[in-house]
Amino acid sequence: MLIDTHTHLDDKQFDKDRDEVIARAFANGVKKIINVGAGLGSSRRSVELAEKYENIFAAVGFHPHYFNKYGESSFGKIAELRELARHKKVIAVGEIGLDYFSHNEKKIGEKEKESQKAGFISQLDLARKLNLPVIIHCRDAYDDCYEIMQKYVDLKFVFHCYGGNMEFTKKLLWYKNIHFSFTGNITYAKAGSEIIEAIKKIPMNKIILETDCPYLAPTPMRGKRNEPLLVRYIGKKIAELKNFSEDDASRITTKNASRFFGFVL
Ligand SMILES: [Zn+2]
Ligand SMILES: [Zn+2]
Repeated sequence: MLIDTHTHLDDKQFDKDRDEVIARAFANGVKKIINVGAGLGSSRRSVELAEKYENIFAAVGFHPHYFNKYGESSFGKIAELRELARHKKVIAVGEIGLDYFSHNEKKIGEKEKESQKAGFISQLDLARKLNLPVIIHCRDAYDDCYEIMQKYVDLKFVFHCYGGNMEFTKKLLWYKNIHFSFTGNITYAKAGSEIIEAIKKIPMNKIILETDCPYLAPTPMRGKRNEPLLVRYIGKKIAELKNFSEDDASRITTKNASRFFGFVL
């Protein structure tokens, strides 16, 4: 029994067979799915999916790139996000955070960074007001992310697709309300790499699983479209790295996710 805590099933890549993909997961040991928003449209679609399927839940939020793409107007849309977040099947704010990685050699400049930070902070305020846990997307921005989080230590955080180094991981382990979520990239990470070392260091009761589908398909499906059914390969890899049986790893990570997101199993 597994929970896929981070999917983008509203993505165009599922337009032709979304219902089948979802049915396949639920028929093969996936108990719950959390579909995560990255902008206003995808947050709305996440809520729609949650309305349609009993075991799909929604997270709503604006990805850091959303603030770079839409500039000032994105801040105005946070009011709409607040309305969406009141829906009873919205169980988290996310994915929100900071992303300084330069795509297509387009550098993220100081102005873009400031805009991302302001967007992150407004949404952390929203999470606090609504008393919801937060799904963090953080890439190449660990120090700034950490600094902002210091003012929100009362909130619950999960770092999705976690990739922080050992130094950062050790800092985060001080906080009882921080969890770490792993996806398909751990199945092909090299032994001894930072991410593998971090997993060995993180206690089992802080680890949860996700696919981040349609992205980051695990081995043996690497390079193909990812889907919730494949979350089992991530569980298998965690079991291997932490010296647990596969059954125990699924049971524990499912329990962790349920506790974190407030599911009753
Ligand atoms: Zn992300
Ligand atoms: Zn995502």
